[in-house]
Amino acid sequence: MKLHLDWSSYETAGQGDAYAGIPATGGDFAKAVAVCISDKQCQRKPKGVMCPSFRATDDVAQSSGGRVQVLKAALNGELGENAFAGLQLAAALELCVGCKGCKRECANQVDMAAIKIEYQAQRNALSGVSLRERLIADLPQRLHHHAFMRSIIRWRNRSPWLAKLGETFLGISAKRKLPEPSAAPYVAPAFSTEAIKDDRAVILFVDTFSNHFEPEVAQAAHQVLSAAGYCVTTLQPAVDDNEPERALCCGRTYLSLGQVEQAKREARRMQLALRPALAAGTPIVGLEPSCILSLRDDHLKLGLGEEAVALSKQVYLFEEFIARENDRKRLTLDLKPLPPGKTLVHGHCHQKAVGAMKSLRKVLRMIPEFDFEFIEASCCGMAGSFGLEAEHADISMQMAELDLLPALRAAPDAAILANGFSCRHQIREGVERNAQHVALLLRDALKEKTPC
Ligand code: SF4
Ligand code: SF4
Repeated sequence: MKLHLDWSSYETAGQGDAYAGIPATGGDFAKAVAVCISDKQCQRKPKGVMCPSFRATDDVAQSSGGRVQVLKAALNGELGENAFAGLQLAAALELCVGCKGCKRECANQVDMAAIKIEYQAQRNALSGVSLRERLIADLPQRLHHHAFMRSIIRWRNRSPWLAKLGETFLGISAKRKLPEPSAAPYVAPAFSTEAIKDDRAVILFVDTFSNHFEPEVAQAAHQVLSAAGYCVTTLQPAVDDNEPERALCCGRTYLSLGQVEQAKREARRMQLALRPALAAGTPIVGLEPSCILSLRDDHLKLGLGEEAVALSKQVYLFEEFIARENDRKRLTLDLKPLPPGKTLVHGHCHQKAVGAMKSLRKVLRMIPEFDFEFIEASCCGMAGSFGLEAEHADISMQMAELDLLPALRAAPDAAILANGFSCRHQIREGVERNAQHVALLLRDALKEKTPC
């Protein structure tokens, strides 16, 4: 079996354990599946992230451990020759939203989100990639033609007839609005390449979503970091990049749909652009939790060498960086109280997976008199494109209705903070209210808006 991801970190997993039950085929990938100890923690409903598909369906087959059983059967040859193109594995993995709840919360850190990427890559190799998955994964490329994509999406969102056509031919739910690109993409302020050598230098990575949909989030982050005393450089493609005009992307949209080679291509572009910053030890700050988790975790399975390891240690979520620098007393952020009223905070699953909620709490406490409350919720259910897919639109909303949307409805006047782009879209769809990224909140709380 040719594997698409690098599973060598599991090389010694289960060795000497008579009960590990490592499947007969699949090499180190099989060991990653076999780390499950069948204690059924993922089939309970305590607070936490794991496992939203089980919580929404009450079906053990839709839990992390339930999926492990089917994967083991496939790797033991019990599901026939082309099991990875078959219906049983598809049914087992279809509703996994890749939230990484199991990697963080289950006793043996089963990484079902990464296992699903390998499954999808295997399935793609056997059955090909559907038009919908190609369109969604290619979003960073297509958004290079920003104005054109904006017109198409706005047209589709305003025409029930077009939305229905999109559902029939592409499988994109007509019930759902698509996120609309902003009037113009993010424009990076001028910078000097010398700046990265400054000991207060920081590189701002503007992901596809901040770049094309909510550039104000990147602008706010730039402003806050500058006001905090940092010399901010927005990451740009390297001069010898094959597509120097196209914005950089971590490859998340490709990776989450099992298109591993395309994800590697995007990751290499980022590596090339980041080479000077990696060599200088300059911190890299990003805004979108799923993109940063990709760089910190999933990219380590792409076989991209030492630079990927260095990057994983040098990249921070915006709130992690602010909290870290505040702890080190390097921050000069002068904040004023915001207008009174409670703010409810919804954490993206990947923020929780990297343990960034603690940092977010510290950052929010830096705003004088700020009244906030964390919502105890699992995945919002949007999970990238999952909630937009016709066959998943309803279950996606059921996931949101478990905890998140009821908590928001119970506080109709509260402001909402959500750092995930998909979470903000799901909240807009579910309760018709806008949520904000923490960078915007901090920007509004700045006493003085000094440039770098
Ligand atoms: S919680 Fe983790 S180890 Fe326990 S059964 Fe579920 S997947 Fe397996
Ligand atoms: S990644 Fe999330 S949805 Fe998938 S099995 Fe793990 S906890 Fe469940």
